[in-house]
Amino acid sequence: MKIRSRSKGTVPTQTGRARTDRRGFLKAAATALGAGAVAGTPAGFVRRARAGEKNPFPDAKQVKTVCTHCSVGCGVIAEVQNGVWVRQEMELNHPISRGALCCKGASLRDFAMSDKRLRHPIKLVGGKWQKISWEKALDEIADRLLQIRKESGPDSVFWMGSAKMSNEQCYLFRKMAAMWGTNNVDHQARV
Ligand code: SF4
Repeated sequence: MKIRSRSKGTVPTQTGRARTDRRGFLKAAATALGAGAVAGTPAGFVRRARAGEKNPFPDAKQVKTVCTHCSVGCGVIAEVQNGVWVRQEMELNHPISRGALCCKGASLRDFAMSDKRLRHPIKLVGGKWQKISWEKALDEIADRLLQIRKESGPDSVFWMGSAKMSNEQCYLFRKMAAMWGTNNVDHQARV
């Protein structure tokens, strides 16, 4: 199998003209955005990363893992200390990503460990968010969905996935739509 070179960021087309591939485009866009952000940002908010900076967790165990956000399967090294995922590094020797990650993969640890991550269902009641149990949330959503299907049919609902879903979640999401009885299912990032 011929593996396309990622180093130049361009792909030959049938017309013989080179076009920028996805990774090359992202690199160029990141460079332009980074330059703009640094130029227009208060001092101390953004700083230049330097090779050889000290890792604040030198004793952390390095665990090779794979980004779950899409089917590319880029390699990530999770650094785990005392059972806590404290930092991540790119995996330079990974055969697919070769050290590169898109913004979703680069924020994998922050996404998993964020304090703002929703850990239980909440419901808007009288303008305020209230914590409710999983059982109550599932019952209420299921009852309302079934009512909609009864009144308007299965094609009255469109099931929209998310780029923040893992491969496995996307698979189950598609199955759910089929079980519901519609082909109205797609991915939020489809162009
Ligand atoms: S880093 Fe980006 S391209 Fe790679 S698997 Fe994750 S989401 Fe997909």
